[in-house]
Amino acid sequence: MRIWRRLYAGAQKSSLGCRDQKVEKFVNLCNNHKLIYQHRSSKELLRWYFLLWICGQKLFAKNAFQIFEAARQILGPSFFSIVFKPFVYNLFIAGNDRKSILKSMRKMHDLGLIPFLSPMLEDSPDSLEEDHVKQAQNVTTIMDCISMCSELSSQTSLPINPLAIKLTAFIGTPILEELAKRCDQPFDSLLVEKLRTLNLGNENSLGLDLVHCEQYLKGISILEDICTSARENDVVLFIDAEYSHLQPAVRLITLTLMMEFNRGNKICIANTYQCYLKAGLAHLEEDLRISCNMSFPLGIKLVRGAYMEVERRQSFNKGLPDPICTNYALTNEAYDKAVQRLLYLAGDLSHLVVFATHNFDSVKKIAVHSNLPKSVYFAQINGMADPISFGLIHSGHQSLKLIPCGSVADVVPWLARRVQENSVALERVSWDKLLIRKELYRRFRNVVRK
Ligand SMILES: Cc1cc2nc3c(=O)[nH]c(=O)nc-3n(C[C@H](O)[C@H](O)[C@H](O)COP(=O)(O)OP(=O)(O)OC[C@H]3O[C@@H](n4cnc5c(N)ncnc54)[C@H](O)[C@@H]3O)c2cc1C
Repeated sequence: MRIWRRLYAGAQKSSLGCRDQKVEKFVNLCNNHKLIYQHRSSKELLRWYFLLWICGQKLFAKNAFQIFEAARQILGPSFFSIVFKPFVYNLFIAGNDRKSILKSMRKMHDLGLIPFLSPMLEDSPDSLEEDHVKQAQNVTTIMDCISMCSELSSQTSLPINPLAIKLTAFIGTPILEELAKRCDQPFDSLLVEKLRTLNLGNENSLGLDLVHCEQYLKGISILEDICTSARENDVVLFIDAEYSHLQPAVRLITLTLMMEFNRGNKICIANTYQCYLKAGLAHLEEDLRISCNMSFPLGIKLVRGAYMEVERRQSFNKGLPDPICTNYALTNEAYDKAVQRLLYLAGDLSHLVVFATHNFDSVKKIAVHSNLPKSVYFAQINGMADPISFGLIHSGHQSLKLIPCGSVADVVPWLARRVQENSVALERVSWDKLLIRKELYRRFRNVVRK
């Protein structure tokens, strides 16, 4: 008995030791500034450092959008572009034309990262009477992006070909809101089947009014064309999660698309699950159950959630309960639980899982997990959390880098949000700044020594 106990304790110790070693190795790789910034010139690093420093200035971070807009008005669009491009735009954005976007994607691929293109799509017009130029533009943009992803994959050996897309670009928010009210209940296979019938245009079983039903069917038909093209080109469409009053509809439509298009071991549609929602874990469980009952694999992008402040303000103004977890610790707990659940499933079933996060603790816990299946990926945003992305790829993991594309005017609101996000994630930004300083110092010392 004693021998067994000693053997058991020894085995536990050695597996703990092995885990500790893995953690240490991963942490060292994430701190290896020479490796992380080898592709960036010193000039770029200085610009990057300046941007991170300015993100730390509360007044700037809080009013980033207004400051960018005021500067655009004062300087005029052309002069604003000249100043804005090298200092902000080029650090985050792939470009605005096919040639420069493909160049940025190829550069990312050559660094070992998987480019995750994210076009800046405008929201779909709300009424039928409005012209549908925007919607048509969105279709052209997304089809161009599918073709770019396909071109890149034909020249490289990417394990996945991801593209971000938002449903509100194709179905107006009033329709999604109306649909969301009608399906804000636990989902089951019957509800998904009901929506599928509606997709087929046979029956308005969800009770949308006639005008909305017509618009809805048009949006769905556009989405089906996009999904067909994605499937033919081996592209995976990751549908963004948006505000919680729209999410029930976004989730339900995405489920029906997954049921239709994720067939024969090929996943080409993925949904986004937000762990900051009190109901986030329940949503994930419901969808896993439906996918199991109806025999189709899920594509899953797991995030914490991006709209906390707006959600809280809106629910307060409407006198509704706050849909967001009461505090940061509870969001983290929900994220950890979802990770455990998905890691347990990912090996057995054919789901595709992407952990989209800049949180070092979350990434570290997953990265040192033994035997991560091939269908598990990580994702970060271009220009953010580079130490994590490069630490991941240098330790043999697969990391996607979300890279937006669009004109300067299109990306200003998105960039302002990133500035705000950086200003909140103070610990991560201080870490980035420290590593950049160390790398600049190393380069400076090398020059002086010569
Ligand atoms: C590749 C990629 C794709 C993404 N796509 C989407 C998307 O489609 N939809 C979307 O909503 N978001 C999306 N996000 C953003 C994401 O949801 C987070 O806002 C962002 O990544 C910051 O969270 P984090 O996990 O990196 O970690 P951290 O920076 O450690 O966590 C910050 C997050 O924790 C939560 N939080 C902070 N304070 C509190 C509090 N007091 N109470 C409760 N919760 C709190 C919030 O969600 C906050 O954003 C994406 C992120 C990435 C990297």
